[in-house]
Amino acid sequence: MTDKVESPDVIEPDMAFVRRIMENGGHTLKKCFQCGNCSVVCEISPDNVPFPRKEMVWAQWGLKDKLLANADIWICHGCGDCTAHCPCGAKPADVLAAVRNISFSKYAGVEAMGRMLSSPSYLPVLFLVPAILITAMIFFASKPGFMSANPIVFSNMAPVHAIDMVFVPAVLFAAVSAMLGIKKFWTAIAKGSPGGARISSGLGKAAAVTALGILKHEKLGKCVTNAPRFLSHLMTMYGFLALTATTSLVAVMYWINKLAIAEVATTPLLLLHPVKILGNLGALAAVTGVTLIVARRYGGSGEKTDGTGYYDSHFIFILYGTILTGILSELFRLADVAAVAFWTYYVHLVLVFTLLAYAPFSKFAHMIYRFVAMMYANSVDRAKERIDDKTVRL
Ligand code: SF4
Ligand code: SF4
Repeated sequence: MTDKVESPDVIEPDMAFVRRIMENGGHTLKKCFQCGNCSVVCEISPDNVPFPRKEMVWAQWGLKDKLLANADIWICHGCGDCTAHCPCGAKPADVLAAVRNISFSKYAGVEAMGRMLSSPSYLPVLFLVPAILITAMIFFASKPGFMSANPIVFSNMAPVHAIDMVFVPAVLFAAVSAMLGIKKFWTAIAKGSPGGARISSGLGKAAAVTALGILKHEKLGKCVTNAPRFLSHLMTMYGFLALTATTSLVAVMYWINKLAIAEVATTPLLLLHPVKILGNLGALAAVTGVTLIVARRYGGSGEKTDGTGYYDSHFIFILYGTILTGILSELFRLADVAAVAFWTYYVHLVLVFTLLAYAPFSKFAHMIYRFVAMMYANSVDRAKERIDDKTVRL
């Protein structure tokens, strides 16, 4: 009788994936010698099956499927405490950020879009699409002589119903793509992350807890090394929410008037109108938040704890450009310089389209994937994960 010999697990490294991590800001990953300091200092890593030490060795070995199906990559919020305490400069925060960036194309609901958003060579095409659509909208829907009419009214160039015709399909495309991406992502993390098999109920409660945590920026508040990130991210998030609410309210007010439901104020709104105040406060918060982010990442002091790859730069500058052109078009309108105001507003519309329509394939999607991963973690009570769960242990 012969003893049955179990075949050993075979690890198949994906060296192209390792190179991709290094190109996306994780070039220090090979310096890691697995001391485990990073997992100890991370304030939000659970005691059992902690991160990011295990992710570092997976990254070194090119275990692509394991890494991309790991919710811990997204539970990390890039505070940089681990990088600050790494004795050999392996910068785990940068490596995890690089893996997150690679995830955008992996989980893109429409794969071709995922590829296009991953490389600067597609940028001209990505801008050309909204530029053509918005030019056509102005050509067909603007009021004749809008440029010389006094006062300056942006809806003479881009009426709300025409904006809706361009932007509503774009937002629907983004929403459906995001749903497809979330489905892929959820299936992957439920198989590849700690406790996945136990997800059974309580998703509503997990979603509510997650949303509250994000609104309070609870996890980023624990950050020590990059503590200023808390304020800049909070201002950006609330500023963006206020601007989104303002745009939606303006559209609702337009349709209330148009459908003769009631008579409410029309654009341009007076400076003291509540919706205008909300918009201006939102713009102020958002521009301050993003300016702080840009100053830290690209300024002299440099935020050295979160990789700044193409995805990061693309998202930051589209977001910054959108906010700045929104503010400038308003200022140029008030200063009564029609040509500059209308052109700035045109660029603003192109950037808004770029931000919204491509959201599920760009770094904008980090909000979606982080929310889903945190919801998953809350639903399986990740912080109390048992040490003998072998699902992801190495
Ligand atoms: S990344 Fe640095 S701190 Fe973490 S295990 Fe590797 S060497 Fe240690
Ligand atoms: S960047 Fe912060 S949250 Fe992420 S693993 Fe490092 S210490 Fe933890």
